Amino acid sequence: MRWSSEAEQAVKRVPFFIRPKVKKAVERLAASKGAGTVTLSHVQECKQRYLGGQHDGVQGLQVETCFGPSGCSNRAVSFPGFADRVERLLEEKGISRFIREGVSGPLKPHHEFRVSISDCPNGCSRPQIADIGLLGAAMPDTAEASACNGCGSCVEVCREAAVELRHPGLCPLVLSDRCLGCGQCAVICPTGAIAQGAEGYRVLVGGKLGRHPRLGTELGLFTPEQALEIVSRAAELYMDRAKPGQRLGALVDEIGLGRVKAALLE
Ligand code: SF4
Ligand code: SF4
Ligand code: SF4
Repeated sequence: MRWSSEAEQAVKRVPFFIRPKVKKAVERLAASKGAGTVTLSHVQECKQRYLGGQHDGVQGLQVETCFGPSGCSNRAVSFPGFADRVERLLEEKGISRFIREGVSGPLKPHHEFRVSISDCPNGCSRPQIADIGLLGAAMPDTAEASACNGCGSCVEVCREAAVELRHPGLCPLVLSDRCLGCGQCAVICPTGAIAQGAEGYRVLVGGKLGRHPRLGTELGLFTPEQALEIVSRAAELYMDRAKPGQRLGALVDEIGLGRVKAALLE
C-alpha cells in the first residue's frame, strides 16, 4: 500500500522495534476504509484506537487482513466488517486475557494468538502460518456450461490448469482437485457458462513459525457465518486444552486432527 510523505514521517517516530507492527495496523485501518494510500489521519486514528496507553501495542490477539479492501483486482470475496467481527468475537471470548495469563514476563508478538484473513488464494497476509487462517474463495459454477462459445478465456486465465474444454459440443469442466477458488474464470467468462458459485473462506487451523513450523491444516470452504462459528469453537478448544504458551498448531498435533475436526465442525 502507498503512504503519503506525512504519514511516513509520522510512523518514523514510532520506536523501531514495534514499527512494523504499527505500520501493519495502520495499513489495515486504511484498507478497512477502502483507502489506497495511508494518510496522516490514518496514523493518528490508529494511534488513538489501538495504542492508547499501550506502549508496546502487544495485546495478545492479532487479527490481520490483506490489502484486498483497498481495491486489489485479485480479490475473490468481499465481506465488509468480517475482520472486525472476528476480532470482537475473540476479545469477548477472552483470548487476549488467556494469552497474557499464560506468559510469564512481558508479552511479545510471537506469543499472540493470530488470525489472518486474505481475500483470495494468493494469501498475502500469510494465513497459512497463522493460528487460524481464512482464505477467501469463490468457486466456479458450471450449471450453464452449455452456454459456452469456446473462446478459451477461462483456460487462459486459470493459473492452476483447472479448466478444460471438452469436445464435441464445447463444455467447460472444472477440475475441483486443482481449483483454488480464485474466481477469475467466472469473471472472464462472457457467456455465463462459468458463473460464480459458492463463496466464503477456506479455513486453516494451526499454522505457525518458530522452532517447529507448521502450515495450517485446511478444513474446507465455509460461509462467513460458518467460519465465525469455527473461529469461536477453535478459541474455546484452545482455551480449554492448551498448556501455557502452547500454540494452537501444537495442540492440534497433540490431540489429533480427527478430534479437532469433531470439536470444530460437528
Ligand atoms: S490476498 Fe489476494 S486480494 Fe488480498 S492483497 Fe493479496 S492478491 Fe489482493
Ligand atoms: S476459480 Fe477458476 S480460474 Fe480460479 S483456480 Fe478455480 S478454475 Fe482456475
Ligand atoms: S470463458 Fe466461458 S465461454 Fe469462453 S471457453 Fe470458457 S466457459 Fe466457454
